[in-house]
Amino acid sequence: MEYEAVIGLEVHVQLKTQSKMFCGCATAFGAEPNTLVCPVCLGYPGVLPVMNEEAVRKTILSGLMLGCEIARFSKWDRKNYFYPDMPKNYQISQYDLPLCIGGAVAIPGKKLGITRIHLEEDVAKSFHYETTSGVDFNRAGTPLMEIVSEPDMRTTEEAFAYLTALKEVLIGGGVSDCDMEKGQLRCDANVSVRPVGQKAFGEKIEIKNMNSISGVRRALAYEIQRQIAAAKRGEKMVQETRRWDDEAGVTSVMRTKEHAHDYRYFPEPDLMPVVVSEAWLAEIRSAVPELPEAKRKRFVEQYGLPEYDAEVLVADAAVAAYYEQAAAGSKNPKAISNWVMTELLGKFADNKIAPLQLAELVAAIDGGQISGKMAKDVFAEMFATGKGATVIIKEKGLVQVSDAGALEVLAEQAIAANPKSVADYRAGNASAINFLKGQVMKLSKGKANPQLVGEILARKLQA
Ligand SMILES: [Zn+2]
Repeated sequence: MEYEAVIGLEVHVQLKTQSKMFCGCATAFGAEPNTLVCPVCLGYPGVLPVMNEEAVRKTILSGLMLGCEIARFSKWDRKNYFYPDMPKNYQISQYDLPLCIGGAVAIPGKKLGITRIHLEEDVAKSFHYETTSGVDFNRAGTPLMEIVSEPDMRTTEEAFAYLTALKEVLIGGGVSDCDMEKGQLRCDANVSVRPVGQKAFGEKIEIKNMNSISGVRRALAYEIQRQIAAAKRGEKMVQETRRWDDEAGVTSVMRTKEHAHDYRYFPEPDLMPVVVSEAWLAEIRSAVPELPEAKRKRFVEQYGLPEYDAEVLVADAAVAAYYEQAAAGSKNPKAISNWVMTELLGKFADNKIAPLQLAELVAAIDGGQISGKMAKDVFAEMFATGKGATVIIKEKGLVQVSDAGALEVLAEQAIAANPKSVADYRAGNASAINFLKGQVMKLSKGKANPQLVGEILARKLQA
């Protein structure tokens, strides 16, 4: 029997705000433990939370970017549980009235549904030592957005594509930096398997503790195989939560259904419901940036780029913006794309070349001033110094010889010095001209315009 997986993802994203969700403490990463805290985020009795408007705005912006319906009325709820990383013994979250409903993440050839997006506060971080444990409350109260997907994914690759595309949208919108190593994006998965063709879902298993996108990929691949093997042995799955062990490469039981938490949700009495006015929604809508998918399409149409180029350039918003500025000043947007992709990617942070300087370099090549080979040297110098192409070309005396008269003389010399190649060429060996071309280039100290040399030689050899 053939089996298929059914995967749903719950993604937690820390929002890029200056302060925490319900107090004024800063949200910086990597500060000394327990220095970014106050009575509110430490859960002292008698304190009152104050909602961070920017966090609500960024959640609504995320919803708009992902095509969700934005609730005009939503509210806060207390999710009760007891754990050392939860100072109040409840987390302020959203239960039945989330800020965003529906929507989808587009991956190549498919749209993967979103169930809901809600806003809550992050918990503290526990550290376990040999005989003791510690808690750092700096993270407690950081605005945390939870994006729950529909069970629309069927393969590990689709889950990977979903996360990649979602990250791209959120980073592009300035909502979060989504750095998984800093815990800014965290992911839990619900996985089940079923015989291909069966409509009903299998018993779902929740997997936690995946700390990188590649970890998600490996955990899902492992878990799907494990469940298929069990199904083939006739074993029935029972609903449970499992922990991914990245080092061992296995999942193991964390808690079974009987031990599932009962969160006893109830409305948060200390916070007003969130009412989103038409005016505010319109204002947020006007700030929705162009989505990667739309940008890729536009790059293909506006600049005549192959889809591959568009995909590579758009993957990084800063690179895409640089490309557009350079292309705007150039008659050859494809050449600009080539330079950016082959020479700038990977070391973009160290780049000193202004976009219009790159356009200037491409113009110098296209105008026959310098050869492609010279351009590589000019580029390296531009990259290191930030000087313009024209300045460097002048300084180095690199101007390409496109003077037909001068090149004719050199071509005559090459022909006279290499009678064998001339004979070969005339006997029908067309590639013999390349050797002669090389000789002319050498005579010109690499400054001859190669295309012109080829033309002149071909003409002379025919005569
Ligand atoms: Zn605080």
